[in-house]
Amino acid sequence: MNVLNKKTLEDIDVKARRVLVRCDFNVPIENGVITSDKRIAASLPTIQYLLGQGARVILCSHLGRPAGGVFEEEFSLKPVAARLSELLGIEVKMAGDVVGESAQALAASLGEGGALLLENVRFEKGETKNDPALSKKFADLAEVFINDAFGSAHRAHSSTAGVAEFLPSASGYLMQKEIAFLGGALENPKRPLTAILGGAKVSDKIGVIDHLLDLVDTLIVGGGMAYTFFAAQGKSVGTSLCETDKFDLALSMLEKAQAKGVKFLLPVDNVVGRAFAPDTEFTTLGVDEPHDGWMGLDIGPATRALFADAIAGSGTVIWNGPMGVSEWANFALGTIAVATAVAESGAVSIIGGGDSAAAVKKLGFESKMSHVSTGGGASLEFLEGRELPGVACLSEK
Ligand code: AMP
Repeated sequence: MNVLNKKTLEDIDVKARRVLVRCDFNVPIENGVITSDKRIAASLPTIQYLLGQGARVILCSHLGRPAGGVFEEEFSLKPVAARLSELLGIEVKMAGDVVGESAQALAASLGEGGALLLENVRFEKGETKNDPALSKKFADLAEVFINDAFGSAHRAHSSTAGVAEFLPSASGYLMQKEIAFLGGALENPKRPLTAILGGAKVSDKIGVIDHLLDLVDTLIVGGGMAYTFFAAQGKSVGTSLCETDKFDLALSMLEKAQAKGVKFLLPVDNVVGRAFAPDTEFTTLGVDEPHDGWMGLDIGPATRALFADAIAGSGTVIWNGPMGVSEWANFALGTIAVATAVAESGAVSIIGGGDSAAAVKKLGFESKMSHVSTGGGASLEFLEGRELPGVACLSEK
């Protein structure tokens, strides 16, 4: 599958047609009040384009994890309809159900340039099972399907993938941007291509390392993951995070890098603490020094310089996972150094969702990056080379 060959909303005739749009309105809500409307705002370009074309727009999303099968006020999308109405300056009607009588009647009565929001798709039990009967009911509401929910694209659910079997389908602007950056970086990157991986465990990212070794020029590994590589090489890691059952895999990844001519950079020094605590006593140790009684919690100053240097010469950088326990100030310097190096590199820079995206936002570097992914899980699966059901289902150009 060539993800860059999928139809986008501008490739499909939507004029005056009923268009079902899967959005990511999974916003934080406390006591019925939305505490951040970023995800709603991010969907506006797609919705405004469709309304501008005179489409009859039927929006849908999940919110949280309701039990399924019944309506639960706590997980209702009603506050989202109200906020959308304010942002769009038109009334966004709220259906009383997902695909039932209320949704059907409102969808049928929508005029050109009108908008409607369905209830939380997970109120339907079939949603997470990708039940074809439910997918067909979604499809019966509309004539075209637009998927703009990248954060849910790694899930094969009725409203993210199943419905596309019954309707012409295309990506929205948000989804299109994710595909263009992630797909572009993997399929046709400006070289040298550097990937930076961090975070807690090797086991979570072994698939990503394996796939990226086929594509990148340089692979940088930091964070808790690095200590499994060191221990596998017979180095002392003290009480650092270490997955003893992954030694063979770690060594095989180093061999693969060598066979492929990929530069594999591991830390040369570590900031280590006495215990896993924000205010623990800490110092710096070279990776060949004994680590007895110490726990690696961040990359050291020599490593920060080494990694920054490799990042500086890159054409494209993909980054996923912090270099240490970046939530704690004493162990955040490695992650800050990498974020700074990426921001200043001039490279096409792509930040995976999750903790690295959070670090970039906290530092105020978001606008300095080419793309900060909205989907943690989805972007990781993309980097693993896995087919995302919510992308694979879209019509080809
Ligand atoms: P992940 O979800 O795999 O990207 O991991 C992110 C988490 O890894 C963050 O909560 C970090 O605090 C944690 N982390 C990064 N480096 C270390 C380390 N050296 N020891 C323990 N946890 C770490």
